[in-house]
Amino acid sequence: MQVFGLVGNPVGHSLSPPMHEAAYDSLGMDARYVTYEPSPERFAAALDGADALGITGLNVTIPFKQDALELVDADPFAERIGAVNTIDFTGDSDTPRGYNTDAAGVSRSFARHDVSPDGADAVVVGAGGAGRAAAFALADEGAAVHVANRTASRAAELAAELNDDGESEHTATAGDLDSLATSVPDADVLVNATSVGMESDETPVPAPLLHENLAVLDAVYAPPDTRLLREAREAGATTIDGAWMLLYQGVVAFERWTGREAPVDEMDAALRSRL
Ligand code: NAP
Repeated sequence: MQVFGLVGNPVGHSLSPPMHEAAYDSLGMDARYVTYEPSPERFAAALDGADALGITGLNVTIPFKQDALELVDADPFAERIGAVNTIDFTGDSDTPRGYNTDAAGVSRSFARHDVSPDGADAVVVGAGGAGRAAAFALADEGAAVHVANRTASRAAELAAELNDDGESEHTATAGDLDSLATSVPDADVLVNATSVGMESDETPVPAPLLHENLAVLDAVYAPPDTRLLREAREAGATTIDGAWMLLYQGVVAFERWTGREAPVDEMDAALRSRL
């Protein structure tokens, strides 16, 4: 039997186990997906133990995504983003490989909705883990990225990193949340990568700024229909909920670990039935 899992703290309400186990069932794989909640001091030991026990792959979530980067052989994209959310123990090397599939989750969510970031003006709200993944994903696909964050200095740092690494053809800009007033009306793509909308019916983007030429991805997936998405829909925008991003980060992780094409529809159905 193959064992996969999620390591984080807390992970009790994760939707990854049913999503991945739907894939194993669909493909007739003898596999399980297990959640692990080590204390922060024992995270490195937990990874060594997982490797020694023959676990095939682990997803990594809060608060370990940055720690994981230091403990694995991270691919260049994960290095630039500064976080690893997928570890593959199957290689020959003593050090497992690390990837960031949150970024792929953003890219594949837009692709699934026929939205191309190439040449687009993109606004990323938030400069934490999800914001970094979204900003690098969109910049690498050819978007001009504006990062808006409550703490403006974090947005400025992220924009500087996007500009310094020489991979993007456009100059990234940054500001606080007031900068949404000037950036969103001209934008083609908007990502909410803050946690606003999760605990209460709030939005980080004032409704009058939304418009019909915008594609809006909200990383928040619980609830799936956030106030931002409702107001974006009312403005005529294309809306993409956070379950798509969650689905595709899992799809890409599955494909990394197994080398098989993921049964996307089955994974999607398992995920959405639990939202
Ligand atoms: P994080 O690293 O802790 O970053 C949180 C971000 O939210 C920061 O930019 C923070 O701004 C901002 N923020 C928090 N409270 C705010 C408020 N009241 N007003 C304005 N901004 C606020 O968290 P994360 O890992 O990036 O996650 C962010 C969200 O994305 C969460 O809802 C998470 O569930 C979701 N997410 C979804 C997926 C998916 O697959 N769908 C994947 C990853 C994350 P400051 O810098 O000013 O603190």
